Amino acid sequence: MILPIVAYGDAVLRKKGKEITKDYPNLEALIENMYETMYEALGVGLAAPQIGLPIRLFIVDTAPFSEDEALDTEEQEFLKDFRQTFINPKIIKEEGDDWAFCEGCLSIPEIREDVFRQPKIKIEFFDESFKKHTKEYHGLAARVIQHEYDHIEGVLFTDKISSLKKRLIKGKLSNISKGKIEVDYKMRFPDIKKKR
Ligand SMILES: [Zn+2]
Repeated sequence: MILPIVAYGDAVLRKKGKEITKDYPNLEALIENMYETMYEALGVGLAAPQIGLPIRLFIVDTAPFSEDEALDTEEQEFLKDFRQTFINPKIIKEEGDDWAFCEGCLSIPEIREDVFRQPKIKIEFFDESFKKHTKEYHGLAARVIQHEYDHIEGVLFTDKISSLKKRLIKGKLSNISKGKIEVDYKMRFPDIKKKR
């Protein structure tokens, strides 16, 4: 089932997500719906707050990045098959010199800005079977995880850009929250006036 993606301005995107247990209602179906929703919107990651649930769960599938010719073959190969569900994740280490990448977000359509992040991370998480993993990622895989991890902390990539750029996109962000935007996937906008 395709779920509407919550647009910028909705309070749920600002909540710090709560941990869940394996008894979380309909977890299996929820995860399946999140993948379906992400693929439909051509995203590489989707966090639970983006479909209205302030819980510590996100999914990643970097396959679309594997075609990027700027990357070396090894990274392309890794990205092609990297699909992972992260439950109750905890980034335990971030390393290396900040690098810029032009990020976008399904909740903030049509805006892309350079965001600086560290290139290497170590993360603990549970998969959909509640098996615990500790893994290290680098490059674009780490980047997508960091972006999604921010979502469950109530942080958006637009928080991480310069104050000048923030001023420049202010109007666009306000239009997004009002639904004054064209998107070809299902969205839910916080500031659409209710029809009488
Ligand atoms: Zn996002």
